[in-house]
Amino acid sequence: MKRASLQFNPAIETLPVYQPGRPIDEVARELGLQADSIIKLASNENPLGPSPRAVAAMQQALGQLHLYPDGNAFHLKRKLAAALGVEPANLILGNGSNEILEFVGHALMAPGAEVVVSEYCFAVYPIVTRLCGAELVSVPARQFGHDLPAMLAAVTPLTRVMFVANPNNPTGTLAAAADVLRLIEQVPPHVLLVMDEAYIEFLDEPQDLLPLVRRSDRPNLLLTRTFSKIHGLAGTRIGYGIGHPDVIAALEKIRQPFNINSVAQAGAGGALDDHEHVKRTRRNNSDGLRYFERELAQAGIEFIPSSANFILARVGGGERVFEAMQREGVIIRPMGIYHLPEWLRITIGTPAENGRCLSALKRALGRA
Ligand SMILES: *Cc1c(COP(=O)(O)O)cnc(C)c1O
Repeated sequence: MKRASLQFNPAIETLPVYQPGRPIDEVARELGLQADSIIKLASNENPLGPSPRAVAAMQQALGQLHLYPDGNAFHLKRKLAAALGVEPANLILGNGSNEILEFVGHALMAPGAEVVVSEYCFAVYPIVTRLCGAELVSVPARQFGHDLPAMLAAVTPLTRVMFVANPNNPTGTLAAAADVLRLIEQVPPHVLLVMDEAYIEFLDEPQDLLPLVRRSDRPNLLLTRTFSKIHGLAGTRIGYGIGHPDVIAALEKIRQPFNINSVAQAGAGGALDDHEHVKRTRRNNSDGLRYFERELAQAGIEFIPSSANFILARVGGGERVFEAMQREGVIIRPMGIYHLPEWLRITIGTPAENGRCLSALKRALGRA
């Protein structure tokens, strides 16, 4: 095979590659299993499926697929703004909230810029940072979660962005509300603080940062959220950023004109009306979390108490246990790329899935 002698962007050479949870179909082909015998608890997807109201709205949209989507998502933005109590000018939609994170990179990062993250942070932050040629400043975790005072202390005149996922992925940890408020108050105005709230809807009493956006007095605060998790629309790819109109306007310049397809726009609109599905999902999740915490404790398996829809369990050789469970048709996530090689991340499933996952885990550990 002839090798390409193109001068690739130097940032690409050292760029970490995102490793997604393994798709059911791929595992079925590789291991010769029936696809419908496999369960996937690897990507923090909604085990109850997509919001039924979203599905109905998406079906309605199919007949108009010959038309380009509304590039400004007029109806969805108004609906979302009303639901959040903000203005449409406070909102930007992304092809998944991952795309918003990438907009942040293009808007603020360049060679020489510094980006502050926590040691066990969401994999996309380092990827975006390196893609833009900026420097990643990784601050040691405190009990697996964010050490917010230390992250604040890591800010320099060169810092452009700080990413904080709360609850955090992959650890499930939640930062104390007082620490978050202090961070928001003290982060210097030249640093954009991105509070990634992908899992906020799973919390019983979430810390509400929206009043800060409404008052427009923290121009350097951007919240990101997604329809992928609690609404069960990961496959449609839609998320959003909430922030000061100046920041939103800058990000909007980077956005491709039709980044949100019309099916996703319709689905997100339907999901916003589906309070029942959100409620059921939240209840299933807290029951499942309690189940795992109880069972893991009983089996003597260490875990990190989680505020999200997944849980980290310490199993020793994460990769080996992952493979053993996969052979039984249970896909979970090894954490080697997150520098947690002894740990597995398990997404909370339905009660039946949770039971099957736990049995497979115990067998893999020889504790069945
Ligand atoms: C899942 C997740 C997202 C959302 O990703 P989408 O692109 O919206 O599917 C964002 N941040 C974190 C920390 C996540 O775990």
